[in-house]
Formats: sequence, structure tokens, C-alpha cells
Amino acid sequence: MNAPLPIQVTGGAAAYEQVSALSNEVAGRLAQRLAAETQGEVLFTPADRGRYATDASIYQVMPVGVLVPRAVEDVRIAIDICRDLKVPIVPRGGGTSQCGQTVGAGLVIDFSKHLRRVLQVDAEARTATVEPGLVLDHLNGQLKAQGLWYPVDVSTAAQATLGGMAGNNSCGSRSIAYGNMVHNVRGASAWTSDGILHDFGRFDHATGAVRQLGERVRELACRLVPEIEQRWPKVLRRVAGYNLDVFHPQSVRPYTADGAVNLSHLLVGSEGTLAVTRSLTLQLAELPRARVLGVINFGSFHQAMDSAQHIVKLGHGTLTAVELVDRTMIDLSLRNPAFAPTVRQALIGEPEALLLVEFAGADRAALLRHLDDLVALMGDLGLPGSVVRMPDEGPQKALWEVRKAGLNIMMSLRGDGKPVSFIEDCAVPLEHLAEYTAALTEVFRRHGTKGTWYAHASVGTLHVRPILDMRRDGAARMRAIAEEASELVRRYKGAYSGEHGDGLCRGEWVQWQFGPRIHEAFGEMKRLFDPAGLLCPQRIVDAPPMDDTRLMRFNPGYRVIPLVPALDWRAWDVQNDPATEKTTAPGTGGDPALGFAKAVEMCNNNGHCRKFDAGTMCPSYRVTRDEQHLTRGRANTLRLALSGQLGPDGLASEAVREAMDLCVGCKGCKRDCPTGVDMARMKIEFTQADRRKNGWTLKDKLVARLPDYAPLAARFAPLLNLRNHSQLLAGVGERFTGFAAARRLPKWHRRHFFNDPARTATREEVLASGRPVVLFVDTFNGYFESVNARAAVQVLQAAGYTVHIAAKAQADGKALCCGRTYLATGQVDEARAKAGELLAALQPFVDRGIAIVGLEPSCLLTLRDEFTAMGFGEQAEQVAKHALLLEEFLAREAGAGRLEALKARLKPMDKPLLVHGHCHQKAFDAVSPVLQVLKLIPGANPRLIETSCCGMAGSFGYEASHQAVSMQMAELSLLPAIRAEPDAVVVADGTSCRHQIIDGAQRRAVHAAVLLVRQLG
Ligand SMILES: Cc1cc2nc3c(=O)[nH]c(=O)nc-3n(C[C@H](O)[C@H](O)[C@H](O)COP(=O)(O)OP(=O)(O)OC[C@H]3O[C@@H](n4cnc5c(N)ncnc54)[C@H](O)[C@@H]3O)c2cc1C
Ligand code: SF4
Ligand code: SF4
Repeated sequence: MNAPLPIQVTGGAAAYEQVSALSNEVAGRLAQRLAAETQGEVLFTPADRGRYATDASIYQVMPVGVLVPRAVEDVRIAIDICRDLKVPIVPRGGGTSQCGQTVGAGLVIDFSKHLRRVLQVDAEARTATVEPGLVLDHLNGQLKAQGLWYPVDVSTAAQATLGGMAGNNSCGSRSIAYGNMVHNVRGASAWTSDGILHDFGRFDHATGAVRQLGERVRELACRLVPEIEQRWPKVLRRVAGYNLDVFHPQSVRPYTADGAVNLSHLLVGSEGTLAVTRSLTLQLAELPRARVLGVINFGSFHQAMDSAQHIVKLGHGTLTAVELVDRTMIDLSLRNPAFAPTVRQALIGEPEALLLVEFAGADRAALLRHLDDLVALMGDLGLPGSVVRMPDEGPQKALWEVRKAGLNIMMSLRGDGKPVSFIEDCAVPLEHLAEYTAALTEVFRRHGTKGTWYAHASVGTLHVRPILDMRRDGAARMRAIAEEASELVRRYKGAYSGEHGDGLCRGEWVQWQFGPRIHEAFGEMKRLFDPAGLLCPQRIVDAPPMDDTRLMRFNPGYRVIPLVPALDWRAWDVQNDPATEKTTAPGTGGDPALGFAKAVEMCNNNGHCRKFDAGTMCPSYRVTRDEQHLTRGRANTLRLALSGQLGPDGLASEAVREAMDLCVGCKGCKRDCPTGVDMARMKIEFTQADRRKNGWTLKDKLVARLPDYAPLAARFAPLLNLRNHSQLLAGVGERFTGFAAARRLPKWHRRHFFNDPARTATREEVLASGRPVVLFVDTFNGYFESVNARAAVQVLQAAGYTVHIAAKAQADGKALCCGRTYLATGQVDEARAKAGELLAALQPFVDRGIAIVGLEPSCLLTLRDEFTAMGFGEQAEQVAKHALLLEEFLAREAGAGRLEALKARLKPMDKPLLVHGHCHQKAFDAVSPVLQVLKLIPGANPRLIETSCCGMAGSFGYEASHQAVSMQMAELSLLPAIRAEPDAVVVADGTSCRHQIIDGAQRRAVHAAVLLVRQLG
């Protein structure tokens, strides 16, 4: 374990002193020079280093420090400084490598934040020149208008950078049609470790130093022609070692269209060991105008494997993918609420495996005929009626998303046994696929584990990860399985590393694959390019053993600090049986943090949260693009803290506070993170630990106790509201409370729902009613926006329900409360008390099966979420089952045909209608009911705005320290979408969302209940 360095680099000399005092001379000088000589961000704190010590592999190596260059020149300067100080360099993109390519004890240079421009697009020549930190999806987004794309469509397209993809020689699902990176790179501009920038392109056009490098490599290759012919795997998917064969090509697909040698191909797949890429010139392809998909359902896995070799012959060049999804993955997808509906559409009965077969091209009619051919072929192979036809793009896209998330879905297994990537991507010729997979399955069985199979059947690269416990005997088993797997790969003349590269995990297998002479030539190549051995040393050549546990995340010294968490995390505190995947009972996993640490450790660093497309994860990262403000960065910080790697303060350390500061608790990760990392819930743990140590601020108290002082405050409404009309008062308020003067605070009302309630049924009346419903009116809709609570009552009554307002059994002048404001400020005991009160009040209704309906998503959904983690057991589970948002309830009733009376009364509307979903609504899949219910209004065409968090997030956006970032979040998509439609009615159920909309776009959004009432005839 690395000793933590409590340092914060702030500037030149200070940085030097801080680092050198606590670290070592070289790290200090490095930090000082980087801070003084570059414009980049210099990150040398223990937490920063820890966040860059891992990638999507099992390894962890602490870097000396991290540089996030702001300009290209920063990189060159950093190379010079590192050369002077003899500090290794580890270039990094999204850090999604699976074999430990981006971890190393040097200076990590993160290209992904600033160096991400498209430098040039030549539509005619179909090339694009890009900076290495550009993400593939972002490039393709820009190319779309020109009918072009870069077709190396890796599963991590939303995260992977082009520099990282070139580094790993990445390959996409459609590699059968387009090849790997090496087949699609036309040139590279890159620095060698002597600081010289070279242009690598066609060998026959090369001059100067690049020509010399090329000639030396050619000499090496020419000397080895017999070995290359004998040892080089003859498959498309071979990414191990260096591409020494460019001079004597062995790939089943030519590296270049005209057979010319391209020296940039030597850098592709070199994993940052030969040169540091400044820009890449890429070969683009025409975006297919049409795609059709056939999903074949197989009764056995073997059948699926055996069929692949026949399927690839279909399509006359339009076949672009044959992808496998096995039974385990089908089951896991069905358990994931975001994926289940999509998967169901693809199933016929209960298949053991699916093959997703795609044809793409310009002529849709021809593609549909190929789909017919596929159906006919399956009939010939004895499987009539096994194909689900998906000719339309929508369902296809959704299914590809599930397939792309496949690996991550597998990682959601709880317990210490996890599917581990180390023989994940061996590639074998198709005719051996069925035999190979059967033999490997048997190897797993003998080692007491099993693997889930998926991915690229078209090119013989099937992903499989046996389940291993890397805290115990995992490393030894990994080696044993790797050795047997390698024998199979050799028997079937395959490639040991067919997609994910070498890194720390497979470096030692390079010699095994290519033999000593080629391996030695690789070493010479490395010395030619990087005589100082500065670039990612000990990778590809001189690699350490794959099972060196000192280099692993769960190294022999890994210990979790004992801790009693505030919430119940026992569901994560389990162990699993690698052979059956069965988990033990909650609370039996042996976690010293009673499940909290294991929940944190669920993050496997795959980087899925580094996304900018639709969905809610992760708004703060979208604004800052900082690793520390990413769900992954937060999970890593927590893991480091919980295991004592950030010093004695553990969870309450300053580093955790910084990482958590911009987490808005939106629960986007709870829904989107494939392994279910729920940072919003984790933030509650942190906040409690932090405030216990540092104390609660006045702001915390004002937020938390709002439900308690609201009855009194409402009496002084005119006085308190003065603050919103006086700059002076707002300024004074900001100084003392931390609430931003620039924000209006919610308006108090003397008359509000709780002292002037609507006429509703008594407790006895509702219990006796044939159409009962209980409305839980929260603090926000009760005191600040009573109009919403009244509207809800009116709508429910118009629909014929007997409505009762939930109230305390013993009135004490205060309303019932879910405790959210206490949770948000880390006062879990107080929140538990509120929850207990509410649960007791709701119990009689729940016992009778009466729905509990709420209006404010963050309040009502607390009943379904945090209440179940507060130790109330079955009582909370029962209430959770009955707690519904108003629209969820109405949509359910409409589906049962019980809303005819309401429907008959709704007047038509002709205005455009925009809907913004509250993050917690999205997290609980509760947005579509809003759309369904609004569609009951004749003529209404509600459209969901593709948004992440609005940025207000409870009190977050009101805080002076967060106001700016809150507005930036809103400006990402929400506010521009609203401004673009000035006539639209905007529906937003969240109180804070409505405030953000009026503050940012000066538009008054309404709760859906209010719109329904407006339309009542
Ligand atoms: C869930 C999951 C699914 C995946 N699916 C696929 C898949 O379908 N196909 C596939 O091929 N891979 C896949 N991968 C592996 C990985 O996502 C890809 O290799 C990806 O291209 C890496 O991109 P990155 O930006 O994260 O690169 P990183 O991991 O950051 O870096 C990759 C390599 O490139 C080097 N590098 C980065 N920038 C530079 C630079 N400027 N100069 C020199 N070297 C540089 C790094 O040192 C490293 O060796 C998957 C990984 C995960 C976790
Ligand atoms: S937080 Fe979730 S999505 Fe992000 S890297 Fe970790 S596991 Fe992946
Ligand atoms: S809760 Fe929201 S802001 Fe916090 S890490 Fe998850 S997605 Fe990001």
C-alpha cells in the first residue's frame, strides 16, 4: 500500500515544497516544473493519484502524479521534463483499458479533458484528423451531417478516446466489415521520448528520422520472415505485440487498401510504449443508410457457436455484425429495469443464446432480402421460427445498447467473486469456435468457476470472464486457467489477445504467442523508438507476471477500515459461489464496513459514467470533465478512503469531501451505472461522517429543519419574503447562511395547504371507501406550492376517488415528512425518526392495500428507496410497494380502465407540451407514466426533454458555492430546450426543477397535476 501524501499542488515553488517535503525529491521537482512550465492541471494529491491508479482492469499502480494538459505544447514540455527527471510517462484517454495499460508508476498524462478537437475533415478523401483525447461518439456526432462515420465501433464508443483506441488497436462489433483500428488509421503525428514530433504515414513517402525508424524496423521484420509466417496468428483479431508484420502482412484483412506500408501502424496497438500521439488521421466510411437486424434464438449455446461459420457467408458484403448474447446475460439484462423491455422484444421463449445478425448498406430492400436469407438459412440448419426480425432502427439501437452494456451487466454480480478479464478476448478461427468454447467451459468447470459468453461471433472473438475472487485465491486460479486457455488457443491456431491488448495482464504472454526471436525483435523496436525507456516501461516487453498481486487493486495489504454505516448496506455484504453465482444471505459477506465498502467496490472502473449522451449520469462530470467529479472518481475516492489509502480520516477526509462536493445526489448512477453504484446513497454516508467530524453549518440546519420550522415561518411570510426583494438582505443572507444572493428562495405563504386544506375524506371514510387513495403532501407542495397539492386532490376527486390526506395520528402542528432534508444534510437518525412517524401513519392504509400517492419525486421516492435501508424491515418494504407518484397511480388506473370519468372531462389542448423529468423520477423509471397521463388530454403531444439533472438538486443550486455550476448543468440541455420553444407548456414535477427553470429561462413550469386541473371541463 502506498503511503498517502497530504499535498495539494497550487503553484510552482509551493508545489515543490509540498511535494518534496512529503514525497520524494523527484516527485517534488516534477510537480514544480510541470506547474511552472505548463498550462496544464497538475494533480499530485494522494486522491488524485489514486483516481488515476486504476483502469477497467484488476490492477492498481500509484502514479507519481497526473498532468491534464490544456494545450498540445504542454505535452511536449512534460515529455522533456520527464526525460530530464527520468520519470516514466503513461498516456491516458478514458482509462477504459481492461488489461492495465493505463496504470503505471510514472506521470499519467490525461488527454481526454482538453485535447479533443477535430482538426480537419476531408469529406472527399473521407479522412479526419483528430486530437487523441476526442471521444469516438463525439467524432461520429460531428461527422453525421456529412453522411460519414468512423466505423471502429467499440462498445465503449461513448467513453473511448481515439488516442486510446489507437493505443490498444481497438476493434468494434462491426470489425468483420470494417476491420480494427490498424485497418482504419492513415497517419499519426507523435512525439518520441526524445521530444521530437514525427509524422508517421506511408513508408514510401517517409523522409528523415521517420524513414530511418521505418527502415530499421523493416530490417528487423525481414530477418524474421519465416518466424512471422509461422508464429503470427492468421486472424483479423490479433492485437498483441507490435505490428511488426506490416512489412509482411499476416492479417486476414490487408492493413492498407493499396498494399502500401504505413508506418503509423507501428504505433497502433503499441499501448503508449513507442510514442505519444499528438494527432491521428483516420479513414472514414460512408454511414450506412439502412440497417436491419435479425435476432436468432438458439436452444443451445453449441448450436449458436456452430451456426456462426454459416451465417458469415450471408449478405454479399453487407453483413456487418454477428454478436452473441448468452443465457446468463439474457437473465441479467432482464433483471435490469433499463434493459428488460428491450430484451423481451428479442426473445422467443427461453433461448440459451442469441445471435444478433446485422446487415447494413445503402439498399434497404436488398438488406431485407438478406434477412429473409437468414430466416431461410436457420430453417435449413433445423431451426425454423427462431429469428426475430428487427427492420426498424429504434428497437435495433436499444438492443445494441444492451449488447454494448453486456460486460458491465455481468459485473453487477454481488460478492467478492467477480468476472475477471484476462482471457477475455482470445480469437479463434470460426470453424473451431464451437469446440473451443466447449473446451474452455470445461476448463472453467474444473477450476470451480464458470464464465458468461458474449460478443463478436463473426470474427471468433468471444468475450468470457470466469468468476474469480481476487482477494483470495483468484490470482493463482487466473494463472492456472490462463495456461490451459493458452493451450487451446494454440491448438486452434488463434490469437491470445484479440481485442483488449496486452497491458499488465497479457504482457508476459507476448513471448508465448510470438516466440523468443520475434519477442526479442519487439524489444529492439522498443529501444529504437524509446531508447531512454521512458514510455510505459515494462509493457509488451519486459512485462511483469500477470498474477503479481502487489500490482492489483485488492493487493495483499488491502484492508477495509471497520465502520458502522448510517444506512443498511447488508444487501451488498454477501459472498457468491463462482460456479453457481448464488449469493449468501445479506450481512454474511464479512465486510468490516457492513456492506458499505463492498457497495463502493462494485465500481469496476469501466468508465460508463463518462458519458455525455441522454440519461442522467453524471451531471457534475459533464460540467467539469474532471475525474474527481465523475461517479467512477467518487467511487475510487471512497474505496481509497475506506481502505485507509487516503490517511486516517477515512470517509471524513478532505479528499472525499472534495470528490463529493459536486455530486447532486441525482441517482443517475443508481439507474445508469451497470453495476448499480448508488452514489446518492453513498453521499448520505459521507455527509453524516463529514458533519459528525466537522459539525453542521447554519445552512445545513436551515435546510434540514425546514419541515419543522415551516409552520412557524409561514406565519411570518411577508417578512421572510422581503429577502427576495432586497439585494441587501439577500447579500447579508448569503454571508450568514451560504444561500446565494443571486437566487430567489421559495416563497412563503401565510395560507397554505396545511392550514387551509382542501375538503377531503377522513381516515375512516377512506378506509371504508371502494375507491380509496391516500395523498402524502410533502413540505414543499404543502407550504410553498399548495396549488399543486390542491390540484392533485381535485384531479383524484374528479376521477372518482375518495381522497384522504395522510396526517399524524397525534396532531402536533407539523405535517408528516419523509426526512429527505435530514438525509441530504447527513442527519440519518433524525431522518429515521421522521420516516418512522410517516410509516406508522401510513400503515393502516397499506394494510388495506390503499395506494399512497405523492407529488414531489424526491420526497415520495424516498419511501421507495432510502426508507428500505433504514432498518424498518418489512414495514418499509410494504409501504414502498404502495407508494406511487401521482402519475404512476393515474397511469396504473387508466390501464385498468378506471379513469374513464376523468378522461371524459379533459378539454383538448393545442399548445406544444414539454416535459422535464426529475432525476429521481428517471432513476425509478417514473417518467413514462407522466407522458402516458398527459396523453390522456385530447390533442396533447407531450415530449420529454433529453436532460440530465436540472442542476438545482434540492438545496444544491441555492448554495452560493454551487450556484454557478448549477446553472452550467441547466445550460447543458434543459434551458436551451425550453428557450427553443417559447410557446410550449412546460411540465416539471420537481419543486427545485421548476425553480431552476424560472430562474434560468424565466418560464413558469407546472406540476402535471396543475395542467390536468387546467384542462378539466
Ligand atoms: C465495458 C468495456 C467494453 C469494452 N469494449 C471494447 C470493444 O468493444 N472493443 C475494444 O476494442 N475494446 C473494448 N474495451 C476496451 C477499451 O474500452 C478500448 O480499448 C478503448 O479503445 C480504450 O480507450 P480509452 O480512451 O479508454 O483508452 P485508455 O484506456 O485510456 O488507453 C488505451 C491505451 O492507449 C494509450 N494512449 C492513450 N492516449 C495516448 C496518446 N495520446 N498517445 C499514446 N498512447 C496513448 C494508453 O497508454 C493505453 O495504453 C472495452 C472496455 C470496457 C471496460
Ligand atoms: S461508477 Fe459505475 S459506470 Fe462509473 S466506472 Fe464505476 S461501475 Fe462503471
Ligand atoms: S448521484 Fe448524480 S451527480 Fe452524484 S455521482 Fe451519481 S450521477 Fe453523478
